[in-house]
Amino acid sequence: MTALLSIENLTVEYAIGGKTLSAVSGVSLQVGRGETLGLVGESGCGKSTLGRAVLQLRRPTAGKVTFDGTELTGIDGEAMRRMRRRLQLIFQDPIASLNPRRCVGDIVAEPLIIAGIKDKAERAARVREVLTAVGLDADLVTGRLPHEFSGGQCQRISIARALILEPQFVICDEPVSALDVSIRAQILNLLEDMKRRYGLTLLFIAHDLAVVKAVSDRIAVMYLGKLCEVAPSEQLFRRPAHPYTALLLEAIPVPDPTVRPAANLVVGEPPSPLDPPSGCRFRTRCPRADARCASEVPKLREINAGQFVACHHPLTN
Ligand code: SF4
Repeated sequence: MTALLSIENLTVEYAIGGKTLSAVSGVSLQVGRGETLGLVGESGCGKSTLGRAVLQLRRPTAGKVTFDGTELTGIDGEAMRRMRRRLQLIFQDPIASLNPRRCVGDIVAEPLIIAGIKDKAERAARVREVLTAVGLDADLVTGRLPHEFSGGQCQRISIARALILEPQFVICDEPVSALDVSIRAQILNLLEDMKRRYGLTLLFIAHDLAVVKAVSDRIAVMYLGKLCEVAPSEQLFRRPAHPYTALLLEAIPVPDPTVRPAANLVVGEPPSPLDPPSGCRFRTRCPRADARCASEVPKLREINAGQFVACHHPLTN
């Protein structure tokens, strides 16, 4: 796998009331060219912060992000602005992410204006092309305002806006979690189509493992700012190695009324990132925790080909 994006020891911290909140703590990951990497974890585990730190929308406290040979953490100003054309973000709430006072044509064209494309006719042609690609009728939607559309249509408009500069890398931050279940599959299929059409590499962030499985080549599981497990999608579902991954898998509902919910679901709330547990951060909720887990931070290590786990007592090795 040739890495398009490489993250090394990425750390994002916030100072809150004299304490340090460690939202992302020493995360290292690679995303291969043309790959979809799913990033999954409970709300507040730091996955969206990680996505924003990759795009340098939130500058990391420490660590390195390298995209296609350029260290993003080492550039700013015009160099960063040029690089942003190649990296885009699709937001969780499509309606809130669109300016309610601007028509769809202007919203989708805005990145072209920022990128310095002055020719109005060229902008209009590219807006038409990308709106058509995401399944919207450009003649009908261009002059209308966002409130005239459903959530699914607004997400199509958001995707069009993200793709109009023909980026190489797109972070999809919970792109279907705010949508009705009935249209989630449509948007996931659209993202797959767009990936093929534009040759995209995707970082797909979600809290729902079932959604991530549908689109990802590999999956990274995050807990309280740290990576627990990274593995090919099929391997992670078949033989999870980290106890947290296994519990997340057990929590996926089965569409069969005769199947009883698993008794072994993840219990309790995650600890505060202002005061994470010593050693393994998952130990206060882990059924396999022992004294070593409290004293020694588990390192992410490869236990099977392509399967990495940060656990002293993995479920498989
Ligand atoms: S290191 Fe210990 S506490 Fe952490 S997941 Fe593994 S067994 Fe559980």
